[in-house]
Amino acid sequence: MDNKETTGILNESFPQKDIHGSIAMPIYSGVAFEFDTAEDMENAFLGKSGKHTYARISNPTVEFLENRILHLSGAAHVLAVSSGMAAISNVFMTIAYSGANIVASPHLFGNTFSFFLFTLKDFGVEVRFCNLLDPEDVARNIDENTCAVFTEIITNPHLEVADLKVLSQITREKGVPLIADSTMVVWPHFQAERWGVDIEVVSSTKYISGGATSTGGLIVDYQTYDWNRSKRLKTLAKAAGKRAFQMKLRGEISRNLGACMSPNTAYLQNLGLETLSLRYERASSTCLQLAEFLQTLPAIQSVNYTGLKDNPFYAVSRAQFGDCPGAMLTFCLEDQAACYALVDRVKIIRRATNLFDNKSLIIHPLSTIYGTLSPAYKKMVEVPDNLLRLSVGLEDLEDLKEDIVQAL
Ligand SMILES: *Cc1c(COP(=O)(O)O)cnc(C)c1O
Repeated sequence: MDNKETTGILNESFPQKDIHGSIAMPIYSGVAFEFDTAEDMENAFLGKSGKHTYARISNPTVEFLENRILHLSGAAHVLAVSSGMAAISNVFMTIAYSGANIVASPHLFGNTFSFFLFTLKDFGVEVRFCNLLDPEDVARNIDENTCAVFTEIITNPHLEVADLKVLSQITREKGVPLIADSTMVVWPHFQAERWGVDIEVVSSTKYISGGATSTGGLIVDYQTYDWNRSKRLKTLAKAAGKRAFQMKLRGEISRNLGACMSPNTAYLQNLGLETLSLRYERASSTCLQLAEFLQTLPAIQSVNYTGLKDNPFYAVSRAQFGDCPGAMLTFCLEDQAACYALVDRVKIIRRATNLFDNKSLIIHPLSTIYGTLSPAYKKMVEVPDNLLRLSVGLEDLEDLKEDIVQAL
């Protein structure tokens, strides 16, 4: 599959022409949808007609976004939800069970780490942290109760890149699904299915939202996994085959959890999609040039960005993401005090969390994102106290360089 579509604008049409001829998909913010007859109503509730019934379950504006993502990703099914964390939690509520385990790296987005380690634990689900860069360690941790191997395609803030070909070879051999959080790199620069990912989760809050306009999440299902091998879904898989995950997720879990995407968010994110590749490519290119520049500054001890030729993940990053491995870099100064001083002095770069806003954002991760963790867990996440994370926006490169130099 070679998908050249970058905006989601092609291949789209309203199911019916808008009565006013609107060229943007309108925001359908009402809750209920009316039917002509009782039989129409029955068919809609049984999912036979594809008609909307109630806004928590489906909505035309949200469905429109899901269909665009379907075209962009080449997936078999897409569900849009209220945030990236809702995407991750809906996926695991669909496939995990008491006694199951998840194999993952401890280098995870902060709330994903907390969800696996604390939230799921109380439901009898164990997370097995291992080194996803070490195939033997991964294979050793998988057993008959492993419900998934989970990885972020570029870890944050460590910026490690697992070799997905190697990982997916292991998951295919062992018969477990490979689930990847691909928030850091957008379509078409990263095409998950090509690398053996079975289910992709995305925080559309980031690049897709179009400049930090709204929170949202996407569950992108390639239907490449045989759910007959899943303890939780095997009964359903007898009837539904590879669609078992989709059936369970859409037909039961997502409606029961109720973390639906709002139509207003879907409208904003539909608009965001139209400029996604323009913004992504510009921010990635600025990020690379800024990373190269930061390497020349004596006050900066090290710069981490997988697009740098001397980065240990350069080759695998290049293979999987081409010349645009996202717009987030990290760098280390002498100590935490030096980091705080720089953060206090920047003028253009904003002091804020979040990634891939149109504005550049800086944060000291250990004292903020990981700030409430106990010392033992802080050690586990391995984020040094002299590290700053910079999410590069759409400002002029020279302005960003100058801002950092004056702040140093
Ligand atoms: C932000 C983020 C999330 C969570 O997304 P929300 O939309 O904030 O819930 C998950 N994974 C990664 C890699 C993220 O950057």
